[in-house]
Amino acid sequence: MKLASKLPDVGTTIFTLMSALAAEHQAINLSQGFPDYPCDPDLLNALAEAARAGHNQYAPMAGLPALRDAIAAKLHAQHGLEFDPATEITVTAGATQALYTAIAAVLHPGDEAIVLDPSYDSYAPAIQAQGAKAVRIAMPAPDFRPDWALIARQITPRTRLILINNPNNPATSNLPAADLDALADLAEAHDLLVLADEVYEHLVFDGQPHRSVLAHSRLRDRSFAVYSFGKTFHATGWKVGYCVAPARLTNEFRKLHQFLVFAVNSPAQHALAAYLRLSQSWQSLPAFFQPRRDLLAAGLEAAGFRLIPSAATYFQLADYSAIRPDLEDVDFARWLTIEHKVASIPLSPFSEHGSRERIVRFCFAKQHATLEAALEKLKALG
Ligand code: PMP
Ligand code: GLN
Repeated sequence: MKLASKLPDVGTTIFTLMSALAAEHQAINLSQGFPDYPCDPDLLNALAEAARAGHNQYAPMAGLPALRDAIAAKLHAQHGLEFDPATEITVTAGATQALYTAIAAVLHPGDEAIVLDPSYDSYAPAIQAQGAKAVRIAMPAPDFRPDWALIARQITPRTRLILINNPNNPATSNLPAADLDALADLAEAHDLLVLADEVYEHLVFDGQPHRSVLAHSRLRDRSFAVYSFGKTFHATGWKVGYCVAPARLTNEFRKLHQFLVFAVNSPAQHALAAYLRLSQSWQSLPAFFQPRRDLLAAGLEAAGFRLIPSAATYFQLADYSAIRPDLEDVDFARWLTIEHKVASIPLSPFSEHGSRERIVRFCFAKQHATLEAALEKLKALG
């Protein structure tokens, strides 16, 4: 039987490929972003208690009310603003499902959505799967700043949506206020919706604040904002996140959500609701991650990499052109994994036309001992 692929150019994600290569070669895996240390025992106990208490059947479609209330309280603590858990907050199976659902809810075949490269790998395929077009605009290394005049020139009557990822993975940038104002100007001028992936909202360094679209008076009314408990509570395997959007957008979002997953894992939602009530542990994330960033950065520099400063996320970008200028980034990442037993992620898969930069990404959501062991191996490069 003939099957016309909806995603003919899409293969297996670079995260899966590099984690598999790391395992195959017993390399230290600083590629795919996930912690290698345990989550808070209070969170694990809450999960066990929820399952034992019998919370093992379907949760309500939009998310457990207690969890949506706790998310509203968290948003209030963060932004001093009210969000209605009944109409503006939906619990999702991780940020990935929230992103896909928002994209599918608003894009029709032939529509266009603006994506800023380097971009997280799920955005463009999710757009393409709707029969819509991802209009990808480069933010050049090493600053990865959006060029708003260039973006404005790519807007057509078919443009419906602009995606931003702030803080940005893989660029490790944290947008200044002026960029959010420029985004608001553009969205208002062309009546665009905004999809803001803010999963790294708490992973910002050097005393800088994160600026959410939810706290921007002109963006809040036209934005979907997406979050992940996987990042905030060191539990990427739980795959629970949420989407915050005004009622009219949430209404369309939920029409799809109910048929993509119907409802999200019930014991995990009970556990997260209980944990959010007793802990504001996200406040300590900058202090938790910054020393890890600094440890990795110092070691990479000593090994001959040139660093691109990491303002946010749990990733460090490093230019390797002083080490193996002859290798393109995918080949360099493979070589480093196989020959030096440290796995990283090349940057080119995050851009439409690849990249000629000599940059790879290392994850520092790791125990100090893991980072030290990786750096010990990389000493051989120097
Ligand atoms: N967006 C970005 C920028 C990410 O880095 C990730 C995951 N690392 C996600 C979305 C997906 O989050 P989740 O695992 O909650 O689906
Ligand atoms: N977001 C993680 C990263 O950037 C990976 C998630 C995944 O493997 N899909 O490394």
